[in-house]
Amino acid sequence: MANIFAQIINGEVPADIVYRDDQVTAFRDINPKAPVHILIVPNKVIPTVDDIDDADERLVGHMVLVARDLARKEGIAADGYRLLVNCNRHGGQEVYHLHLHLMGGRPMGPMVV
Ligand code: 5GP
Repeated sequence: MANIFAQIINGEVPADIVYRDDQVTAFRDINPKAPVHILIVPNKVIPTVDDIDDADERLVGHMVLVARDLARKEGIAADGYRLLVNCNRHGGQEVYHLHLHLMGGRPMGPMVV
């Protein structure tokens, strides 16, 4: 059974998709922690940061550039935003399909650890 993000990418589960290309899909988080909370997800399954291959370097760079462009489109670039990736259990990862959180629209405050 595909993970929930793979199902969203495949169109099997609905989501508010804000961007898609041949490498990544971006959609709004179902439980947003900020006025803007978008997840940028590679179309191929990479479970965690620890599973990223050297060959994925361009893909991971692309995820960041898509986040940059979406932040501008959402109107949060000037005030600023937070990009976050959780890895594995101690990182607080819930969905084991790599994703970059883009959060903004309010002061995000200091990192809470
Ligand atoms: P993680 O803790 O793995 O970094 O974050 C997973 C995120 O995925 C959470 O913020 C959670 O709200 C979001 N999420 C979990 N299931 C779904 C879903 O079915 N649809 C959407 N749009 N977001 C989800």
